Amino acid sequence: VFDVAIIGAGHAGAQAASLLRQRGFAGTLGILGDEPELPYERPPLSKDYLAGEKPFERLLLRAEDFWRNHDIELLRGTRIDRVDVQARRLYAGSGECFGYGNLIWAAGGSPRPLTCPGHELAGIHYVRTRQDVDRLRAELDHTRQVVVIGGGYIGLETAAVLQQLGRSVTLLEVQNRVLARVAGESLSRFYEAEHRARGVDVRLSTRVDRIIGEAGRVIGVALADGTLLPAEMVVVGIGIEPSVAPLAEAGLTQAAGGVLVDEYCRSSAANIFAIGDCAAHRNCHSALDGPIRLESVQNANDQARVVADSLTGKPQPYTALPWFWSDQYDLKLQTVGLSAGHDQTVMRGDPANRSFSLVYLRQGRVLAVDSVNLARDFVQAKALVQAGATVDVEALADASTSLRAALK
Ligand code: FAD
Repeated sequence: VFDVAIIGAGHAGAQAASLLRQRGFAGTLGILGDEPELPYERPPLSKDYLAGEKPFERLLLRAEDFWRNHDIELLRGTRIDRVDVQARRLYAGSGECFGYGNLIWAAGGSPRPLTCPGHELAGIHYVRTRQDVDRLRAELDHTRQVVVIGGGYIGLETAAVLQQLGRSVTLLEVQNRVLARVAGESLSRFYEAEHRARGVDVRLSTRVDRIIGEAGRVIGVALADGTLLPAEMVVVGIGIEPSVAPLAEAGLTQAAGGVLVDEYCRSSAANIFAIGDCAAHRNCHSALDGPIRLESVQNANDQARVVADSLTGKPQPYTALPWFWSDQYDLKLQTVGLSAGHDQTVMRGDPANRSFSLVYLRQGRVLAVDSVNLARDFVQAKALVQAGATVDVEALADASTSLRAALK
């Protein structure tokens, strides 16, 4: 029996355990995770780890002895399949059973799988875990042509790395622009142009019909318009499905594909919290109504803090400002705020200079800012978004003055 059991040894789970101990929590504490590794950073998986520029050891969130030294029982390779909320018990696939006082569900999500014909062929890869990327890298030597399906951050980052590794890359996006779900059109167009200039064949409004195989391995991708793209490898980045099945089966309220939580990350069941990618919450910085899920390191860490504060008797609601980053080629994108629901965008600087910011406004107030190679704007943007500041649009568009100078 653990006084606090954490499911998932990813960003959110590892951070929750560390913070609980940091805040003096003295009860028994266990992290049950299904991956074989010590908790590690996921963002490098589609960046420098994929590129072979960073060894796995440098991805570890904590050194191996940290967990022991802090009396945190880390059970690796342990997958929880069932939760009995009345008896407060967890059942692992292996048959093991664990009791809990409080449960923190931090199980993240798994990549949404391809479902078209040919989806089971060898040579189709996803980018979510270290094992996924090791498998992908092991095939790279025999790979010349790659088709990346999905023009979100993971697809774009993966395309950038594989292109730089000298592979011929085609990127397919079903919408009429990349990053359609998260960014304004000018940012999408900028990234499309950058990838094309580097040699990536970016195809928009393109639907995959099936994956073609020979002897069980991918040899190409057939598009709905009849085009056939030869490929020895397909990388799929079409979003995630939150890992919440055991909680859904136990009857917990769901939303946005995840587990619904309140501003203290409490689910609809007593003593069960959910944090990170799998937690659907009302975000006070969102202009949209209703719960959302955020898939970011910021959200995982800040929600971990909310739960650690609650469980150590100092509850604070979740109000942290959302932020995110993405690295592609030599472009560092930093975003702050949630742009969905904006009614105006203002470009600061010229994308042709490869250093600019796109500011998202709603009713004249700053809702979000996406900065490319412009760390100075990112820092100031945090303050403006936090304050929901009203700004002078003309001053905002003048990149020679600071963001702050546009304050009304
Ligand atoms: P995870 O880190 O996914 O951890 C969940 C863990 O729970 C996993 O180990 C999973 O295997 C395990 N698990 C699932 N089900 C069970 C079960 N039933 N029993 C036991 N264990 C279970 N965010 C950024 O902010 N910036 C970036 O640049 C960025 N780049 C990214 C690049 C990639 C390739 C990926 C995949 C993600 C990236 N993200 C980035 C997102 C970020 O990594 C996630 O938001 C973050 O990892 C979420 O943390 P989490 O703890 O909720 O989930």
